[in-house]
Amino acid sequence: MQKRKQKILVTGGAGYIGSHTIVELLDAGYDVVSIDNFSNSTKDTFTRIKKITGVVVPNYVGDVAGVALLERVFKKEKYIDGIIHFAALKSVPESVADPIRYYKNNIGSLLSVISFVKKHNITQFVFSSSAAVYGDITKLPVNEKTPLAPPASPYGATKVMGEMILQDVARAVPELKIAMLRYFNPIGAHTSGMLGELPLGVPANLAPVIIEAASGVRKSVQVFGDNYKTRDGTCIRDYIHVSDIARAHALAFRFLQKQKSCCEVFNLGSGRGVTVLELIQAFEKVTEIVVPVTIGKRRAGDMAAIYSDCRKAKKMLGWMPRFSIQEAMQSAWQWHLNLVNNKHPKRPLK
Ligand code: NAD
Repeated sequence: MQKRKQKILVTGGAGYIGSHTIVELLDAGYDVVSIDNFSNSTKDTFTRIKKITGVVVPNYVGDVAGVALLERVFKKEKYIDGIIHFAALKSVPESVADPIRYYKNNIGSLLSVISFVKKHNITQFVFSSSAAVYGDITKLPVNEKTPLAPPASPYGATKVMGEMILQDVARAVPELKIAMLRYFNPIGAHTSGMLGELPLGVPANLAPVIIEAASGVRKSVQVFGDNYKTRDGTCIRDYIHVSDIARAHALAFRFLQKQKSCCEVFNLGSGRGVTVLELIQAFEKVTEIVVPVTIGKRRAGDMAAIYSDCRKAKKMLGWMPRFSIQEAMQSAWQWHLNLVNNKHPKRPLK
């Protein structure tokens, strides 16, 4: 008898990383269903996923924190083998302005999802964590054993708490195997040009801000401080192509399937520190577009530099980033051009 495919519930599947991960999971031979309330995405994502993969991925529209919705999904789907939990709000400045919304959404959704694990015999769980858990550290690069400093924002705190909750659950439910993936700075878009980053509000991440400045949607990239103790005075981060991050999820899921019990954390970055100005230059080089830049004051909560040591993911998951930052910025620009050509609504000038 032919073995049935493993089915993965992806929460936040319409989002930036979730959508790229769905493509990788389908490619790796998994069945996928999604839950997304479109609070930071649109249903078009699933049309685009179908264009790339030929597969219609069912999405249940609603809040993952809602137990009634989860009951309905588990009943309708009959079986689910594992969960990849992306659904969360992700803007650091927004979380500083409205911490309650962030704790409610990010912790509430994790608690709801994880409470279904035992009841429905889920044995694999992958959690979207973040480099934000490291807080303001000084010893670089950071590896998974680097002690965590206090998180610089409520957003970072939701990720630290998420990891703590899952460590406790793993101890109490040893048959549940957990991978917590600490992403550094995802950038870029799918090589098809059909999927990419599309934040609904004002973007807080550097790559979409560069795209907006290059395309005239905003006047310039405001660089927050050029007097840090770094090569050119601007902050250093570790940028990694979103498709590399996405592929790591398929590998992490495969890894969990082979374990008897485990709760492991993995860094996902390029291992290379890149300054804000260097990322802008990489974009300018591949697109031959000059990006207007203004230098502003330092922003509260920003650390000078952070980049990853990813040897653990390489060793245990067999994962290696494949794309350079130039390729990532080129793909992000191509995604933007495709959106413009399809007359996607532009945001007003900021
Ligand atoms: P995204 O906003 O593009 O995707 C998140 C998706 O989850 C969105 O489609 C949103 O509509 C949905 N969502 C949010 N809360 C929900 C809820 N309660 N119920 C149902 N759907 C909900 O963000 P992303 O960049 O794809 O990030 C995915 C995950 O990775 C998040 O957990 C984020 O914190 C984490 N992460 C992102 C970054 C980054 O820079 N993009 C870095 C580190 C970690």
